[in-house]
Amino acid sequence: MKESKINKIKGKENKSSYVLFLYRISLALMLMISLLAITGVKSAAASESKNSTADYFKDMGDKTVRIRNLSLNGYSPVEWYVIGSDSETVTLLSKSIFGTSIYTDHDVNVLYNNSDLKAYVESLIEDGKALAMLKDLLAEASGFGKVPYILNENAVKTLSETKRRGDGNSWWLRDKEKLSNHASILYLYKYTDVYHSQMESYDNTVRGQNIWDSCGVRPVIKLDLNKINYNPRSRVFYLKHTHKWDLETDSKNSNIALVKCLVKDCPYGQNEEYKFRLTVADKNYDGSVVEADLHKYPGFHKEIFLSDVYYEGRNGTVYKKNILPPTAKGEYTAFIDLSSGEGTSDNNKITLSDDFTIK
Ligand SMILES: [Zn+2]
Repeated sequence: MKESKINKIKGKENKSSYVLFLYRISLALMLMISLLAITGVKSAAASESKNSTADYFKDMGDKTVRIRNLSLNGYSPVEWYVIGSDSETVTLLSKSIFGTSIYTDHDVNVLYNNSDLKAYVESLIEDGKALAMLKDLLAEASGFGKVPYILNENAVKTLSETKRRGDGNSWWLRDKEKLSNHASILYLYKYTDVYHSQMESYDNTVRGQNIWDSCGVRPVIKLDLNKINYNPRSRVFYLKHTHKWDLETDSKNSNIALVKCLVKDCPYGQNEEYKFRLTVADKNYDGSVVEADLHKYPGFHKEIFLSDVYYEGRNGTVYKKNILPPTAKGEYTAFIDLSSGEGTSDNNKITLSDDFTIK
């Protein structure tokens, strides 16, 4: 009796809050329609490309990305700034200089296309060189082909100061005129500004450099997103492969799944586990259904499939396995299945469970 009374009162509250809810919804809709009238074209374009890899590169600012297993001189990983992207490609500028080169050997008529500088930067993808592993993963860079290249002054003008500065060395740009023994560099000089409390400042400007002198080389690469994968959580590119998922239930928590890929060098692998959690909280009886909380940790891969949550009574509560959440008093267990999907060689599957009570 007592319970049904509570239910009735609850029902009344629900009804009035429902009317309020409708009112709010209609207000929100009106606002949305007027906003859409203004920004209609823009929002349509934004929703088209949602969830594609390219979306991760918008608004990256001065954050850097890495390429799995690509290091400079065999130890320090190379950091890259994202300087452009579309649905198929991403363009990266190395933060560090890869070495030094002259612009050209003696002849003042030589322009970038015939320069030692161009030969140097393009040779970086040859066997045994720093970027050899990227040889088949590059997209067509306009005017150059599928090779690393050097930025020009115009492109550099659009970069932030941090990106121009990179690791603090001066670096070559492509720009040079015929009959000139100077070509452009991004000149970097770090100095201590005694008038401003010893602050470190940088001269960060385009200047001319003698073509026979050596200067830093910062390669630009345009990666083909159809040929390389990206993990947005760790901001790492990795060679495309069929993931070999390993699903395990956490040894201490039957409601937590640990997910990793067993393929060597996959960023979803070895030292990083991507978790998933199922939770159903205990509750007092009020006639309503329980709600399961499904929590995917950041980076949880979309190739892992989740079943519906299903429920079963325990400790004498009679409730057959069912996807309908229970409402009556009793003790229950909630379940969810995780699987690595069809078409993979090891079609791995685990079941998570969480006990709960309706008091
Ligand atoms: Zn993998």
